[in-house]
Amino acid sequence: MTYDSNREWRIVLFPPYALIVFMLMTLVPALIVGLVWSANAGYILMLLTPIYYLNYETFHLCCHVHDNWFVRHCPLVNTIRRHHAAHHSQPIMMERNMNLTYPVADWYMGTSDLDRGLLGHLFNGYSNRYVKKEFLEDQGRELYESVKPA
Ligand SMILES: [Zn+2]
Repeated sequence: MTYDSNREWRIVLFPPYALIVFMLMTLVPALIVGLVWSANAGYILMLLTPIYYLNYETFHLCCHVHDNWFVRHCPLVNTIRRHHAAHHSQPIMMERNMNLTYPVADWYMGTSDLDRGLLGHLFNGYSNRYVKKEFLEDQGRELYESVKPA
């Protein structure tokens, strides 16, 4: 789960050109929004792409670093860290905890391993208290090695 050498950066992070590719993919929708709605809406859409992408990369990196004070205590980061660690568990990885920034879609689609409301999903932290019973045994070795739930 945690990266241990510089070669593993390539697994955790997208290649540097990915940001440019995502921005190019946003260009046409932003132009359409800019023409149909307003230029500012188009600019905001273009701005949101790198913001969301860098948010994703930062959170994913925080999920794969060794446990430290920041990732353990920073709200939202600690939540996504447990969420993603559980996702890396082989028995549930294809159907649970797909979100890697804020687990809103997992909450809405019912694909989370937690049984609690939206705010509870966002601010769950490392807690296993609300993990659905059927997934308690599928939290994975990686979770206990990197997250060590309270
Ligand atoms: Zn990952």
